[in-house]
Amino acid sequence: MPIQFTNTLSRSLETFIPRDPEGKLVRIYTCGPTVYSYAHIGNCRAYVFEDLLQRHLENRGYKVLRVLNLTDVDDKTIRNSRAAGVPLADFTAVYKQAFHDDLATLKIKSATYNPSATEPQYIAKMIEMIGDLLAKGIAYQADDRSVYFRLSKFPNYGKLAHLNLDELRPSGRIQNDEYEKENIGDFALWKAWDAEDGDVKWDSPWGPGRPGWHIECSAMAIALLGPELDIHCGGVDNIFPHHEAEIAQSESCTGKIFSKYWMHCTHLMVEGQKMSKSAGNFYTLRDLLEKGWTGREVRYALLSVNYLLPLNFTFEGLEAARKSLQRIDNWVSRVEELATQPADTTEWPSIVLFHQSLDHDLNISGALGHLFTLISETNVQMDSGLLTPAAASSLLKNWDSMNRVLALTKSVSEVPAEVLALVEERATARAAKNWPECDRLRDLILSNGWTVKDTKQGAALSQVPGS
Ligand code: AMP
Ligand code: ZN
Repeated sequence: MPIQFTNTLSRSLETFIPRDPEGKLVRIYTCGPTVYSYAHIGNCRAYVFEDLLQRHLENRGYKVLRVLNLTDVDDKTIRNSRAAGVPLADFTAVYKQAFHDDLATLKIKSATYNPSATEPQYIAKMIEMIGDLLAKGIAYQADDRSVYFRLSKFPNYGKLAHLNLDELRPSGRIQNDEYEKENIGDFALWKAWDAEDGDVKWDSPWGPGRPGWHIECSAMAIALLGPELDIHCGGVDNIFPHHEAEIAQSESCTGKIFSKYWMHCTHLMVEGQKMSKSAGNFYTLRDLLEKGWTGREVRYALLSVNYLLPLNFTFEGLEAARKSLQRIDNWVSRVEELATQPADTTEWPSIVLFHQSLDHDLNISGALGHLFTLISETNVQMDSGLLTPAAASSLLKNWDSMNRVLALTKSVSEVPAEVLALVEERATARAAKNWPECDRLRDLILSNGWTVKDTKQGAALSQVPGS
């Protein structure tokens, strides 16, 4: 069964064939955060979706080269760093670190490259590309000294967003690059320095200034992955104007098709509404951790809805994620306890179906359905003593292959340090056969919301539902 994805370019399901002649390597560019604040859970949805994409492709044997960039200069970063009275690089450094911490909390695999737009080699690439566009007459320097992309020189403009260029033509230039605004008309490649920018500026053949947001991504993508990508991702808000502009700039420079596939996740809503600070429903990942939810619970809640469907984020949804994880944990520890012999060759149809669901446009809800069928079936077999230790071992191997994509198994880092300390104390008491102390510590661990079970591999921890 081939892998198929919905390509935003054609708005239809297409068979995925990477450009690599050997069919092994996949080049993916994913638009990263603008580092002027903490990532909100809508952003997290996009990163979790891209993580699922990478993990599934890797599970299917592809080598993935992925760029996840950091936009560390744009209108918002400059405005907020100046408001805070902090140099731009110091200001963005805080949010860059926070972003990496958030990715780790959500078990998102590190990208191959995490370029920042302001790194000198990328600024140089942006200047080179703008120079090329000027030389070709596709860009022009306006009276305000900024350099703009001449839309009329790129007839394909609108092919991704399925827009009619004629409807866009009469509009004037817009200097602002905030992506939520509709930048219809010629867009800025290079923004001439003005007093509002303070000390944020780079020299260029067109005078001091800074790059526009769109050229940043084109330059980082081409510098790291070459002129022809396989997949370019983001949230739907990125389609226009950002990705449309990336296509126009990149293809005008290289003469090649910039990306073969474009994949965009639908926006996350909160309690049925658009997330906004004024509606009081705006959450960062940190907000949810403070409320006592764990990274993997948030990961599950974001992961479990197919990327093209709207995701309505609710606290009941998080509660359900917690219960589903508990079900998985209980099942895994039960199978682990039984798996005392080398694996046999038992094949569960659910596992094949799990991966095939993901082949079909990353149908994660279908895949999870197969996982839970497997859990139910094998729980029944364990209840009636029909699952052999060897079959349990092979079941664990199969779970491993699913969990490589899901990344849901609890890792030690998520268990609070005080609970880990109690577990260690208990192991010492156990070694000394001090059973009353072992029981006391087990109760203490339980009062912290964790149950501990002794298995052949050592102490296995699971979280008490709702704690
Ligand atoms: P930004 O930091 O705003 O440039 O966004 C980083 C990534 O998050 C981009 O890929 C956006 O498309 C994506 N994104 C922003 N808001 C949402 C949302 N509510 N739901 C899903 N993805 C989003
Ligand atoms: Zn981008």
